[in-house]
Amino acid sequence: MNIYIHASLAPGMLSAGARMHETSERSVKTRMSDDRLREQAHKVLHEVFGYSEFRPMQEDIILTLLKGEDAFVLMPTGGGKSICYQIPAILREGTGIVVSPLISLMKDQVDSLTACGVRAAFYNSSLKAAQAKEVLDRFAAGELDLLYVAPERLLSKSFMQRLAQVKIAMFAIDEAHCVSQWGHDFRPEYVRLGELRDLFPGVPMLALTATADEHTRKDVTQRLKLDHARRFVASFDRPNIRYLVAEKRQPLTQILQFLEGWPNASGVIYCLSRKRVEDMAVNLQRHGIRAAAYHAGMPGRARDKVQEEFLRDRIKVIVATIAFGMGVDKPNVRFVIHHDLPKSIESYYQETGRAGRDGLESEALMLYGSGDVNLVRRLIENVENPEQRRVEIHKLNGMIGFAEALTCRRKVLLGYFGEELEEPCGNCDICLDPPETYDATELAELALDCVRELNGDYGMGYVIDVLRGANNARIREHGHDRLKSYGKGSDINADEWTSILRQLVHHGYFVQDISRRAAMRPTKKAERIDEGSEPIMLARYKPGVRRQLKRLGTPKDERLYEKLVELRQEIADEEDMAPHVLFSDVTLTEMSQLKPQDEQSLARISGLGQHKLEAYGERLLAVIREHMSEAPEAESGAASDIPKLIAKGPPVNDNQSYTYSLYKKGMSVAENAAHQGISEKTVLNHYIALIRAGHYIDIPAYFGDRFETLMQELDDADPYASLSEIKQELSVPTSNEEFRLILAWREAIGVS
Ligand code: ADP
Ligand code: ZN
Repeated sequence: MNIYIHASLAPGMLSAGARMHETSERSVKTRMSDDRLREQAHKVLHEVFGYSEFRPMQEDIILTLLKGEDAFVLMPTGGGKSICYQIPAILREGTGIVVSPLISLMKDQVDSLTACGVRAAFYNSSLKAAQAKEVLDRFAAGELDLLYVAPERLLSKSFMQRLAQVKIAMFAIDEAHCVSQWGHDFRPEYVRLGELRDLFPGVPMLALTATADEHTRKDVTQRLKLDHARRFVASFDRPNIRYLVAEKRQPLTQILQFLEGWPNASGVIYCLSRKRVEDMAVNLQRHGIRAAAYHAGMPGRARDKVQEEFLRDRIKVIVATIAFGMGVDKPNVRFVIHHDLPKSIESYYQETGRAGRDGLESEALMLYGSGDVNLVRRLIENVENPEQRRVEIHKLNGMIGFAEALTCRRKVLLGYFGEELEEPCGNCDICLDPPETYDATELAELALDCVRELNGDYGMGYVIDVLRGANNARIREHGHDRLKSYGKGSDINADEWTSILRQLVHHGYFVQDISRRAAMRPTKKAERIDEGSEPIMLARYKPGVRRQLKRLGTPKDERLYEKLVELRQEIADEEDMAPHVLFSDVTLTEMSQLKPQDEQSLARISGLGQHKLEAYGERLLAVIREHMSEAPEAESGAASDIPKLIAKGPPVNDNQSYTYSLYKKGMSVAENAAHQGISEKTVLNHYIALIRAGHYIDIPAYFGDRFETLMQELDDADPYASLSEIKQELSVPTSNEEFRLILAWREAIGVS
């Protein structure tokens, strides 16, 4: 088969997007070997997109298309699907046609390509007549490498006629699952796309989707007539997402606590109902968080505005019903929180998948409460079609199984999609902090006795009150203070009892009767408690959400990063683009780690292709150089990898802040003290106040060799010992101030 490749990719010629296209007119017909094609693809990856390596499968997919063959690609969100068609479209003669149902995404994609010097445009209903004409003219003149088209536009008679007259490099069908009724997002206008295969026999076609289920996959390949296409199925694992499930207690407090760990990051919070969405958004705003609500009940224009502001990093947190997300392609979403239980693992996975598309560390937190299970069950019970009801119950049970899993979350998730993970992942709440299980048989017996004595008429809170021997009027009025089980569980606190009873409900020993104000009743399975034939193992209750420490590989210079973010916002505003389309967080992070100060080292930063280097290189370098001259100590790598410490104390006074300024100049404690004519003790006391006020001081460096030992010994310290006892037990010499200093540090980083 003959492959036609632009001559413009001869070594050395491709120095900028613009020049590339001047020469592309002079394309020559060449027969290319696989190696040569790979080389070409690498060159574009490097020079246009500024990336050094392909991700798994990208190269083989691109090669398949360059050879003129069809491909079907199943890759999770964030896997890097776009490049798989963008590179062949750039390399092959003619225009690559990209079909996408998501009009809102087309502009971003085109902006992002244009910023890389690629000639791209979109054609959809958002264009005014004159704009549409201009696009079509450029297309007809062969001036486009890529054209994004909405499906209904593509299939219009007039557009099809045009297609027949212009050289087409390839077709890419994005979100290909939309062609299938089995998928979760069927679009009738997609069905006719199957005609393309017959109408353009010589043009390679690529279908891409992130939808996992096998039935849909088969349906898609059939309908698009891609039965002979090469299939590429990437792993669905998203290793950079940390899965966390926490028992839902006080959701607002829990969420605020979680957000403290992500200052200034973008994130999405999903809630089940509009009311909850609105309440949560208002509550977050009250706490000074730039949050906004998003749900289907809002006028379309208001929704678009929220979405736009979010993409532009002006709104940080979106509180949404599941209506939000499908059209949102924001790579730097750092966290997704589920305030309520999702209905299925599929939707949970899709929603959490919106975090961390840029590959940087991200978190998915789900708050899980048994009340939610009942709520979703009730919703499902209203479903009329019995078959559908059965399916939904089944899916819900899968979700509950996930939430209650005591094994690695990622194993459970991937297992659900038929993919086996050999080892526990090491990046989920279970792996990071395996729940201790214990034999709770006696407690289960006690709970069962109590529930029976109460005739199954009372809710969980009341049962706990009786078990704990609460002395309240209601109990006395009912005479329940005379029950045998009254006060038998008084040595266990109410939160812990709640956890135990909930787990017993989840394990099916009790039900909560919704029709009778969630009264607890034993089930048939509870007889097993009577029999005592098997121990009842429960997970040990742990209060609170575990705070996460985020550590990127190399520490980044937070202040430089902030300055680069500002510059990005500035340029994005000038160019009317979304900031992340211009430079991804990965690119800025790398810059703030490596601090390139000349063009050559800047060019090595991931995501900076030649076009962006030429357009913005000087401005980036100016910010970095200025920062370096202001803060020479930043060079020593002393910058924090912990973005901001959690402020627990009052703001600092003038003396303390003077100490801090000397610290930042690189002075040791002794130098700092000498410089000010104060004692080292006082300097350390200033440090303590500074840390408590949320400032970063490199405490590990201060303690040096002693640090690891001290941290270890404090981790292992007897929780009931007094502080002075703990201090006495330390094996390394530590002054009183130093002891308080390391305690303040531990508290600030959330390990106290
Ligand atoms: P998808 O469409 O599969 O959700 P994208 O194509 O949007 O994913 O890619 C996700 C992110 O990964 C984007 O920021 C993209 O620029 C980046 N990316 C893709 N391929 C590479 C690569 N080979 N090296 C580095 N980053 C990449
Ligand atoms: Zn795990």
